[in-house]
Amino acid sequence: APVAAPAWLETLNPEQREAVTATEGPVLVLSGAGTGKTRVLTTRLAYILATCRVRPWQVLAVTFTNKAAREMRERATSLIGPDAEQVWLGTFHSLGVRLLRRHGALVGLRPGFTILDSDDQQRLLKQIMDAERLDLKRWQPQVALSLLQRWKDRGWLPEAVPADDPSRSFAEGRLLDLYRQYQDRLMVVNAADFGDLLLHCLTLLTRNPQVLAEVSGQFRYILVDEYQDTNVAQYLWLRLLARAHGNLCCVGDDDQSIYSWRGAAVGNILRFEEDFPGATLVRLESNYRSTSTILAAASGLIRHNQGRLGKELRSGLDTQELGPPIKVWGVWDGAEEARRVVDEIEARQRAGDALGGMAILVRVGFQTREFEERLIVTGTPYRVIGGPRFYERQEIRDAVAYLRLAVQPDDSLAFERVVNVPRRGLGEATLQILNRVARLERISLQEAARRVIETDEVRAAARNKLRAFLADLSRWRALGDGLDPSSLCATILDESGYVDMWRKDRAPDAEGRVENLKELVGALKEFDTLEGFLEHVSLVMDNEARAGEQAVTLMTLHAAKGLEFDTVFLPGWEEDIFPHRRALEESGAEGLEEERRLAYVGLTRARRRVYISFAASRRVFADWRSCLPSRFLDELPPETVERESASGVYGSGAQGHMDAPGGWGRVQQSPGWGRSSRREAATFQVGQRVVHDSFGVGDVLDVAGDRLEIVFEGGAVRKVMASFVKAMG
Ligand code: ATP
Ligand code: MG
Repeated sequence: APVAAPAWLETLNPEQREAVTATEGPVLVLSGAGTGKTRVLTTRLAYILATCRVRPWQVLAVTFTNKAAREMRERATSLIGPDAEQVWLGTFHSLGVRLLRRHGALVGLRPGFTILDSDDQQRLLKQIMDAERLDLKRWQPQVALSLLQRWKDRGWLPEAVPADDPSRSFAEGRLLDLYRQYQDRLMVVNAADFGDLLLHCLTLLTRNPQVLAEVSGQFRYILVDEYQDTNVAQYLWLRLLARAHGNLCCVGDDDQSIYSWRGAAVGNILRFEEDFPGATLVRLESNYRSTSTILAAASGLIRHNQGRLGKELRSGLDTQELGPPIKVWGVWDGAEEARRVVDEIEARQRAGDALGGMAILVRVGFQTREFEERLIVTGTPYRVIGGPRFYERQEIRDAVAYLRLAVQPDDSLAFERVVNVPRRGLGEATLQILNRVARLERISLQEAARRVIETDEVRAAARNKLRAFLADLSRWRALGDGLDPSSLCATILDESGYVDMWRKDRAPDAEGRVENLKELVGALKEFDTLEGFLEHVSLVMDNEARAGEQAVTLMTLHAAKGLEFDTVFLPGWEEDIFPHRRALEESGAEGLEEERRLAYVGLTRARRRVYISFAASRRVFADWRSCLPSRFLDELPPETVERESASGVYGSGAQGHMDAPGGWGRVQQSPGWGRSSRREAATFQVGQRVVHDSFGVGDVLDVAGDRLEIVFEGGAVRKVMASFVKAMG
C-alpha cells in the first residue's frame, strides 16, 4: 500500500501532483515550455520508487539526450537516494542497445556487435551500390542512406516498405533491394546502425512473445520526456512495452516539435489517446521558468502558427514579476552584434550575474564564430555545446592546413592532413613512401615529395598527381604575395576542390560545413597578413573553459531544448537566417511553422532576460549582403519589447517611438518595422537620390515600408534597410 506522501510533493501545484500520483494507467501531459513537465517526470519517477512496490530496474525512463538523462538521474537521486541509480534511464538509443546486448541473439546479432557511425554506414552502402554498378554521381550513397533512415524512422524493415512509397524509385527503382543487401551486410559484419537499435528491438519483441512478456513484464512503469519529438519507430516500441499494463506517462509540447526533419511525428501525440483509451490528460498551464513578459512574447509569437493543439501560458508564481522587456537590437553588422552581446555579458557579470546563467543561442552553427572571437578578445570563458568550437571543426582545420602550407611549405602535419583531401588518388601507399624519405633524409614531407617525383619510387599515376598537387601549392604560395588573405583563402578552397567536395556531399551536415568555410573567408577579411591570422588561430585554440569553470554557453537552438538560463541572447534574427531559407524552400508553410516553433523554444529558455538582435548587413563569403529583419520580430507583441539601435532607444511598444537625434538609427525606424504599424517618417520617394552607409550613392527604385530598393552607381540593385540610407542634398 502507498506510504504517506513525501514532502517533496508539496512543492508541486495540484495539476502537477495529479500527473505525478496517477501512477496506474496511461497519462499524457501536454503543456507549454517551462510548466514543469520534466520536473513532473522526475518527481513521478521518485514517487513510483517511493510508494509503488517495484524495484528500480522495473522503471523505464526515456530522455532526448544523454545530458538530460544524467540530470534526471541526479535529481531523482537527490529526492529518494541511491535507488535511482538502477532505473533504466536513457535515450531511446541507449536503452535499445541495452536490450539488444541481452537479447540480440534472437535477431541474429552476435555478442559484441558494433554500432556504426554515419561514415561507416555510408562506406558500406557505397560498396553495395558500387557492386550494383549504379552511377554514383547520379545516385549518391548519402542520399540513399538518408532515405533508408527515414524508412527506419517509420519502423519499416524492407518487407514493410509500402508498394507506393515514392522513395522506392531512387537508384533506378532499386532502393529497396539496396536496403535488403545493406541489412544483410550489417548482419555479416555483426553491426547495427542507429536506426537498427530500435528496429531490431521491434523485431525482437514482435517475433518473440516470451521475450515481449518478459521485457514488458519487467518495465512496470514507463516515462517519456520530449514526447513531441519521438518518431514512429520509437512510438511503436513504447506501445509494445506498455501494452500489457498501460502504465505509460508521456510529457511533451507540440509547440516545441523541432525535429520533423529527423522523422519526428507530432501525430504520435494524437495517436496516444486513440491507442490508450481512457488516458488521463493533464494540462499544466503555469509556467515557473520565465517572467510574464517573456511568456507574453513567446505566446504572442507562437499564436501565428495554424497547426497547434492550442494552449496558453501564465505565470505560475504569485510573485512572478513582469521583468524587463525583451531587448531588440538593430545593429550594423555581425561584428557589432558580437561586441554588443559580449559587452552586455560583461555588464551583467559586473552586476553580479553568473556567467553560467547566460547563453547565446544561434540558428545555424557558423553564427558562433563571431561571438567566439569576441569572447576570446575579452577573455570571457565560454563553451560550445553540441559541436566543436569553430576553429576545431574538421573543415576549418582542413582549410587552415591549406593556408599553413601557403605560408610554410615545411609544415608536414598540414601537408599530411590535406594531401588527399579532397581525394587525389594519393593514398596510404604514397604517403608511406614520402614519410620514409622524409625521415631518412631529415626533410619535410613536401620536400620529400619534390624529390620522390623525380624518381620511380611511386607509381607513375600517383607521381603525376603528386606533381600536380605540388604545382598547386607553389602557385598558391606565390599568389600569397599579391593577394589579401581572404581572397587567397577563397582561391585555394576553390582551386583545390575542397569547397566543391562538401558542396557535392549530401550528408546532412555538409551544407553547414560549406557555410562555415564561407564564414572563414569572411573572417579573414579582418587580417592584413596570413601570418597574423594563423597566429590568431593558434591563440584561439588555447581558450577552452576549464571543467567546472563558470562559462557562457554557445549552442544552436536545436540543442537548447529542455534547458534554461537566466539570460538568453538570440542573435541573427534576419530573414534567410531565421526563418532559415532552406526550411522555407524545402517545406514551405510547414517549414515556416517549424522555424517559428524553434523561435518559441529559444524565447522560452530564458528565466529573466532576452536579447534579440539583427544586423543590417552580413558578410557572406567575403561579400556584404544587406539583410531584412526577421518576420518573427513583427510577431512579438509590441508591449513586450523595447527596440533599440546603436544610436539609442528609438521605440518601444509601451511608449511609442522616440526620435533619437543623429546617427543612422534616427529617422526611418518605426516601432513595428513598417509591416504591422504605421510608418511615421516615410521620407523617401521613388527616384530620390540617396546615400547608403556602405553601398554609397544611388537612386530609389521602390519603397516598401521600411525597405528600399536602390540602384547604386555602378548599376547594382539592392534591397536595403531605409534606416541605413540618408537623403542627399
Ligand atoms: P520545457 O518544455 O522547456 O522542457 P518543462 O515543462 O520541462 O520545460 P521544467 O524544466 O520541468 O519545465 O521546469 C521549468 C522550471 O520551473 C524549472 O526550473 C523547475 O524547477 C521549475 N518548476 C516547475 N514546477 C515548479 C513548481 N511547482 N514550483 C516551483 N518551481 C517549479
Ligand atoms: Mg522539459
